Amino acid sequence: MNFHVMTLFPEMIENAMGHSIIGRAMKAGYVSLEAVNIRDFADNKHNRVDDYPYGGGAGMVMQAEPVYRCYEDIINRMECPESSFPRVIYLTPQGRVFDQDMAREYAGEEELIFLCGHYEGVDERVLNRIVTDYVSIGDYVLTGGELPALVMMDTISRLIPGVLNNDDSAETESFADSLLEYPQYTRPAVWQGEEVPSVLLSGHHKNLQEWYRRQSVIRTAQRRPDLLKKADLTPEEQELVQEIIEGMTDKQTTRVE
Ligand code: SAM
Repeated sequence: MNFHVMTLFPEMIENAMGHSIIGRAMKAGYVSLEAVNIRDFADNKHNRVDDYPYGGGAGMVMQAEPVYRCYEDIINRMECPESSFPRVIYLTPQGRVFDQDMAREYAGEEELIFLCGHYEGVDERVLNRIVTDYVSIGDYVLTGGELPALVMMDTISRLIPGVLNNDDSAETESFADSLLEYPQYTRPAVWQGEEVPSVLLSGHHKNLQEWYRRQSVIRTAQRRPDLLKKADLTPEEQELVQEIIEGMTDKQTTRVE
């Protein structure tokens, strides 16, 4: 996967992506990243890329021309035919809210271009010209698109085969099968008098799998019942969910049963 990020703050992108699992994935060649500074494509000596909004109103707007030139620079270096130009994702609170299904879909692309806005946003004309996908990371407003781009790249990267040491882990994590993941424990087996659930020490594969599944269903019912609409539950699991939802109070417990 090759990520190309159009941004006013390339260091923010490069610094954040260089660590931990994603940093290792970049060194190993599973993921590559270029952060391209939109300011390098300004046509004035102060490298200004924003201007006042037509019609008045608060704040500044990023101009179309430097963004377009930045995009052309990336595309020209790719040397690909127009029919296979990569998707261009504009990070915006006005976009479709990013989720794990979208991450899976993006993980199948070879190249992705992100456009990070700032100030009041970007001149609509260049968005209409180059953007294929409008994506939000949630219903709140950040100061810029860099953090959303990083959130997306991190999520997408860990779905690329080889990036996680254990490829299974992405398949059992939260949102696989529309369920949250079961609770996790590590050593010591007793911490401040509290034991880990005994089934985890049993080494009994079938019992373990059943426990994982039941805990996932319970946890999802307690914390994110909205996800269960898409989950494939057995009749017994549906009954369990019903019991949990009926028994829940405002101060619902989230402890393991
Ligand atoms: N005036 C814009 C509006 O009301 O829709 C908000 C602009 S915001 C202050 C500046 C930039 O931050 C946006 O252009 C976008 O790139 C990014 N941004 C802010 N919140 C975001 C979110 N929830 N998801 C994705 N990007 C976001």
